[in-house]
Amino acid sequence: MDRKKFLGLSALGMTGLTGIAGGLSALSKLNQQLGEQDYTLPVLFVGHGSPMNAIEDNTFSRSWREMGKKLPRPKAILCISAHWETKGTFVTASPHPETIHDFYGFPKPLFDVQYPAPGDPLMAELIQKESEAVKIGLDHEWGFDHGCWSIIMHMFPEAEIPVLQLSLDYSQAPAYHYALARELKQLRKKGVLILGSGNIVHNLRMIDFHNTKGFDWAIAANEEIKQLISKGNDKALTQYSSLSREAQMGIPTPEHYLPLLYVLGMRDEKENPQFFNDQTVAGSIAMTSVRFG
Ligand code: ZN
Repeated sequence: MDRKKFLGLSALGMTGLTGIAGGLSALSKLNQQLGEQDYTLPVLFVGHGSPMNAIEDNTFSRSWREMGKKLPRPKAILCISAHWETKGTFVTASPHPETIHDFYGFPKPLFDVQYPAPGDPLMAELIQKESEAVKIGLDHEWGFDHGCWSIIMHMFPEAEIPVLQLSLDYSQAPAYHYALARELKQLRKKGVLILGSGNIVHNLRMIDFHNTKGFDWAIAANEEIKQLISKGNDKALTQYSSLSREAQMGIPTPEHYLPLLYVLGMRDEKENPQFFNDQTVAGSIAMTSVRFG
């Protein structure tokens, strides 16, 4: 079955009404508790690249491990991954999300990876209520796709912190994603670590594993996007179809780019970008990642 269709169907079976009777007080209690945090968690966009980064010891996986050691301990992690596209926006609400191996043709050890972090159904409801303009559905089918677990398993190897995913509504324009992110921004003050996972330059049709430094157009697109991020020009980044020809080549489809818009939408104006893993691999994939806060 077509994966998007399958997701759409499973999403229809969502139980957005869970907890109306018993759960509300627990939810308001959680909201109250989380509202008392006196710190704001960072928000990260991470270039995930190949699923093999999950099991390889390389520059990227090492940087994720190092970052995980220094990050403040979140109450929950909300991942917006390029690999979960749906019609409508959903948040995972299962207490025990499965590790999804959403790829093929990779070695067996990659299929053996399990990331047994719990979900957090109550937090899912809180996230759902955080947004007024967008109706976020609760999804009980999706677990963790590789855009999520290949990074988080390095950052938080003990798998104790609850992890949730927010889907990308493929039917919506870029401005929708940015506006939704603005609405969810307060989650950073409620102990939630937001992680956008994609690649700002991602063209699989142009991939060349012999190219170690990146095609000229890929490097140009990466620089252009980085500069706009540094200038805080979220408008241009949201209207990315008006960017240069190189950027168009770097963003042939939206799904790996859109998680960046969530991260930009959750940034505080005073926060300067801290870039890391600023490298282009296989000619046409930028691993460039950015942290705010
Ligand atoms: Zn990917």
